[in-house]
Amino acid sequence: MSSATRQDASPVLVLNAGSSSLKFQLLVPETAQVLATGLVENIGEQGSSVADHGAALAVMTSELTSAGVDLDRDPLRAVGHRVVHGGSYFSDPVLIDDAVLGHVRDLIPLAPLHNPGAVTGIVAARARFAVPQVAVFDTAFFADLPLPAATYAVPRELAAKHRIRRYGFHGTSHQFVSAAAAELVGRPLADLDQIVLHLGNGCSASAVRGGRAIDTSMGLTPLEGLVMGTRSGDVDPGLHAFLHREEGLTSEQVDALLNQRSGLLGLAGANDFRTLERLMGEGDEHATLAFEVVVHRIKHYVGAYLAQLGHLDVLSFTAGVGQHSATLRAAVVAGLGGLGLRLDAERNGAPSSAARIISTDDSPVTIAVVPTNEELAIARQTAALVR
Ligand code: ADP
Repeated sequence: MSSATRQDASPVLVLNAGSSSLKFQLLVPETAQVLATGLVENIGEQGSSVADHGAALAVMTSELTSAGVDLDRDPLRAVGHRVVHGGSYFSDPVLIDDAVLGHVRDLIPLAPLHNPGAVTGIVAARARFAVPQVAVFDTAFFADLPLPAATYAVPRELAAKHRIRRYGFHGTSHQFVSAAAAELVGRPLADLDQIVLHLGNGCSASAVRGGRAIDTSMGLTPLEGLVMGTRSGDVDPGLHAFLHREEGLTSEQVDALLNQRSGLLGLAGANDFRTLERLMGEGDEHATLAFEVVVHRIKHYVGAYLAQLGHLDVLSFTAGVGQHSATLRAAVVAGLGGLGLRLDAERNGAPSSAARIISTDDSPVTIAVVPTNEELAIARQTAALVR
């Protein structure tokens, strides 16, 4: 067997390192075959046997060995790291060197909860694996947003000093899904105007013209935009000062309130969408209102993006809620027939895990369910860079 053939079949390791966790998936990008997947938790926490990300990689290696994968015998092709924040530095995946690592570190003030974990994960993986390593950024797909979409109307000197702008997140998913949607409808990505609704625990919407994002609902942080499991999404910015004045909350407390105790959890007492649907079925009025608030906000963004695009070919639903909740999908597009979105109720209700069209054959806009796969997207982008 030629070495090139061997190389092609060898797997890519995808790492998603948080401050105290390490998610991993070992897969072959060309075939999408997943050889192993797992999660190491409680890294560096008191009483944990996993002291740091280096130790987490050792745990991972032994889990892989138990799964029949010997990394010394069957070497990796490359490692792909999911990195949340690439700032304005990165609009594409990059091969990691010391300068790239420096930039990821430099962006910590913009992603204090996420980039530190990525840095320690990258450092540990470079020490452990002598193969090319690639960083794939959650912001990259939105790095070239048109300036009017990326700019907040705050004093420009302050914005420049602190790099305040709309960055957007979930970019790997929005890019993957918009490309997969083009395949599904059998038309070139470059010809399509699309809206993608990524609805999971975190939720975001994007407007994509010809494969390039022109707007997205998350901003400086992943708090802006749609109503999420525990995040409020858009609120009046005046709410911060109000809560400070009336409740005596500090800015950290307001931040925690809006990120961790709001959204579905704050409205209905449950952040999991399946629980919300069960509560609705039992006639729980808070759950019902929470569902309606979620739908109202999504429609707000669909309408906004229709206006930004001026025309729409495909609306796609993805992630846990978007892929599985026919009820939510039906509510989002209800009443939008006049805008060219005609749902086929039977197609929408038919359970399936495949990418599929759920609009009627005569619907001017195609409505689709397109499963996202961020690990596969990262593995493919990694393989493309090291090829
Ligand atoms: P994350 O943002 O953590 O990647 P996911 O994309 O996995 O999240 O989405 C998680 C959400 O999807 C949860 O709210 C979960 O309740 C919801 N979900 C998963 N399966 C279903 C289902 N069959 N019906 C409704 N909601 C579902």
